[in-house]
Amino acid sequence: MKRFLIAGNWKMNKLSEDAEEFVRGLRAKMLPNEKDVCILAPFTLIAGVGKALEGSAIGFGAQNVHFEESGAYTGEVSVPMLKELGITHCIVGHSERREYFNETDDTVNRKLRALLDAGITPILCVGESLEVREAGGEQTFVAGQLIADFSGLPAADAAKVVIAYEPIWAIGTGKTATPEQAEEMCAFIRGVLSGVYDNATGDSLLILYGGSMKPGNAKELLEKPDINGGLIGGASLKVDDFAAIAMAAASL
Ligand code: PEP
Repeated sequence: MKRFLIAGNWKMNKLSEDAEEFVRGLRAKMLPNEKDVCILAPFTLIAGVGKALEGSAIGFGAQNVHFEESGAYTGEVSVPMLKELGITHCIVGHSERREYFNETDDTVNRKLRALLDAGITPILCVGESLEVREAGGEQTFVAGQLIADFSGLPAADAAKVVIAYEPIWAIGTGKTATPEQAEEMCAFIRGVLSGVYDNATGDSLLILYGGSMKPGNAKELLEKPDINGGLIGGASLKVDDFAAIAMAAASL
């Protein structure tokens, strides 16, 4: 049976009251696949979300982390600090961080290692810009990100990384990749990592699609063989929409 993960990326949205109301609403939906759902919240909301999720199988986590354990890194948050909050997942290398905050494949690689060492599941984002796609370079670009981001990771660790294919031109734009475009790239990603490691590792990977996924298009994306779920931005802010996407995965 295909495994799924439906992950909500709240980005820089919500205050604590709204966040806790969302969690109460999500729990009230009694999703049959709670263990395949997680919420990635801003740092300030993580503790409250974790508390509101006590006794539930829904995961939760952060949208970024620093790779050092501690030290003189003003304004940063480390893996042990997040571990203390009980997080299960953490986004790494989101295109917004790569674009606005100088995230590089080298820092992504270090963050992956730090999270894996702590037993937290990284959700690694890769994906090309519109310019790269229009020039036909999307596979070369994404393969380059994967090779650099996974550099030095043994197969046993690589298999624990969740990958989110997020074409930058589809994030927050309302423009979704077609199910065929999304499937083609997710299958390609699986192939690249099967080549770097082995088929068993490639086959076991959870590969998500992200980019304007919503209740109206989730099912046709999620039914594709190489798409194991979604990283959802805008539609994760409303509990009904997010739950509808989770239900679409549960129905497959
Ligand atoms: C995201 O930020 O990861 C994302 C996919 O956003 P949206 O769903 O809003 O396109």
